[in-house]
Amino acid sequence: MNQESATQITDLGRSLDGVASAMRLCLACGFCCDGTLHLHTALLPDETPTAVALGLAVTTADGRAVFRQPCTQFRDGRCAIYDRRPQVCRHYACALLKKLLAGEVSLEQSLQIAGIARKQLAVFRTRVPAAASFMEWLKAIEASADAEAADPGLAQAVTHDTTLSDHTVALIVYLTKYFGENDAGA
Ligand code: SF4
Ligand code: SF4
Repeated sequence: MNQESATQITDLGRSLDGVASAMRLCLACGFCCDGTLHLHTALLPDETPTAVALGLAVTTADGRAVFRQPCTQFRDGRCAIYDRRPQVCRHYACALLKKLLAGEVSLEQSLQIAGIARKQLAVFRTRVPAAASFMEWLKAIEASADAEAADPGLAQAVTHDTTLSDHTVALIVYLTKYFGENDAGA
């Protein structure tokens, strides 16, 4: 084996390690599928018919074809249509995943970061069981500015529960810091 081949095999090994680590992190996370980071996910223009056939909740936002989150195909912490998922899902990487793949954080560190977010989300879930997702909750907060448009229960929680408001803000800061995503207005 020459040095070039050995280098290629080493690079391939690193690449396979990276894929395995990415899969472990994403299986422990799922925030880009469950409505924690996004309200919608954009589709390519020609993907709409396929996305509808796959059972995704296709709609439009700002004139673009999107499917709603939480994704209807996110089941038991996994993508139920993994081999047929839209292009955007194939190419998406949040800030944490990018850092993991670049070797800037270890798998253990990234799992710990996702785990802390998951615990914070669990607290939020117990406090706001009516919200379909964290992003839906943020949308309700925005809508609470227009009391008639907001769900009365959610609006009341936002208005009167400062602890919940503080927790929500802390979670936004944490998700933005580590996952680099927050598109409440999407
Ligand atoms: S949010 Fe990032 S780490 Fe989590 S599942 Fe999506 S890409 Fe993976
Ligand atoms: S299609 Fe699969 S990968 Fe894409 S958002 Fe839905 S569950 Fe996640």
